[in-house]
Amino acid sequence: MPRFHCSIPLQSGVALALPDAAARHVQVLRLQPGDALTLFDGQGGEYAATVTRMGRGDVQVQVGAHVAVEREAARAVHLVVGMPANERMDWLVEKATELGAASIQPVAAARSVLRLAGERADKRQARWQAVAVAACEQCGRNRVPVVHAPLSLADWLAALPAAPGDGLGARLLLSLRAGSRPLAQAAGAALAVHVLHGPEGGLTVQEEDAALARGFAPVSLGPRVLRAETASVAALACLAL
Ligand code: SAM
Repeated sequence: MPRFHCSIPLQSGVALALPDAAARHVQVLRLQPGDALTLFDGQGGEYAATVTRMGRGDVQVQVGAHVAVEREAARAVHLVVGMPANERMDWLVEKATELGAASIQPVAAARSVLRLAGERADKRQARWQAVAVAACEQCGRNRVPVVHAPLSLADWLAALPAAPGDGLGARLLLSLRAGSRPLAQAAGAALAVHVLHGPEGGLTVQEEDAALARGFAPVSLGPRVLRAETASVAALACLAL
């Protein structure tokens, strides 16, 4: 059953014209009046729907029953990602969404190759958010993880609230430094986790120290040096599956 994200709120029993992005996808698949599809708006659950009209530029659907199904991870894993350059960040967002990331915060660090500001940053953020939407359509998630606007690591750390003392949240820094504990062990039973990692060139010692000062604990993914995007995926596989 084809699944489409709808950027407008959905309601059972309503007839509506699909927003442009969803309409384009339906047209690409050459669906016909009478064909069934699944719609979700990110507010929870999904809706059965039927195509009622295929116009040149518009697609009309009848929205049917709401199904209160969620396919979220039991633990909320918030990724804070030293952005890898080129298409590697697209790959990271796609895989992180499939694996259940709750949110993705791209950060620029001292050794980042990718530097974004202004309109370029806005465009890249919109592209990554669209990648997350497409991954949700594919994998069955009905909640789209937010891909936040890129920030410098220093700004992101400065805006971070004091660490929760309730044991429900954990702040974990993926680090190659000696003494880092295994990731799963450090996460324990925390229900919400921030996982921070560096870009291609890693974080500087000063950046890692700044994260530790904000309540992050250094954690390891084993003895091999993983690429930045592999580190995100490995952490999610360990914490969210
Ligand atoms: N030469 C860089 C360095 O020494 O930091 C390598 C950086 S690595 C390609 C990118 C990021 O992935 C690192 O900053 C770290 O956060 C994370 N990472 C990679 N392998 C890891 C491992 N085995 N354990 C923990 N974190 C790892």
